Amino acid sequence: MAKKPSNNYAVIGLGLFGGSVCKTLTDRGQDVLAIDINETQVNTYAPMVTQAVIADATDETAMNNLALGSFDHVFICIGQNMQASIMATLIVKELGAKDVICKAESPLHARVLNRVGADHVVQPEVDMGQRVADRVLEPNILHYLMLNKDVSLSDVRVENPDLLGQSLSQLNLLERYHVTVIAISHHDQVTVSPSKQTQIALDDTITVVGKTIDVDNFNEVAGTAVKA
Ligand code: ADP
Repeated sequence: MAKKPSNNYAVIGLGLFGGSVCKTLTDRGQDVLAIDINETQVNTYAPMVTQAVIADATDETAMNNLALGSFDHVFICIGQNMQASIMATLIVKELGAKDVICKAESPLHARVLNRVGADHVVQPEVDMGQRVADRVLEPNILHYLMLNKDVSLSDVRVENPDLLGQSLSQLNLLERYHVTVIAISHHDQVTVSPSKQTQIALDDTITVVGKTIDVDNFNEVAGTAVKA
């Protein structure tokens, strides 16, 4: 994957989640300071990242000495020790960190992290559970991305015979379903910004963007399978 413009990142807590964040950032060529209270974890990630340090994230002086306030993005990936995760968040925000992304173990933990100033809070188990369930409930939606709370981008597989063999101009999806088509995939061939003359074939995947409610509605229509 292409290297993104350099930012500097700090990852505190090198468990499964923090370790995965570290690996992804370093694979993408980014500078990463990795911190954990546990020496074994630090030794595991030291060969991979720019710098790895044994430190207690609840030690304000140690965090100040590591200049945590000057990093573009700080990930706090301490889950089980809720008190440490909350204190670390408070400390790095007070040190001036602009973007602090925290992992929460529960909705209550997430609320507290938001209160103490976290810029983003993720709950990996909850988020992943929703995705897996959505995938089963909406098998025609191959990929789904909430751009914000109202707008989504989605790959929708077409099975409805009423849509097949018709061009995009005939289908007029914007007028009828309020979704904008940004790409069509036919087998492995992807056409970005397809022309109005492009015809839809069985099992094509249409990438659409629109209000989540409209994207869901279009998914229902597109997924109405051919009746036997
Ligand atoms: P995961 O579920 O992602 O494995 P864990 O909560 O089990 O998350 O692991 C979090 C990591 O955070 C562990 O490696 C642990 O040593 C580290 N950690 C816990 N408390 C602190 C702290 N006060 N300062 C720095 N690292 C910590």
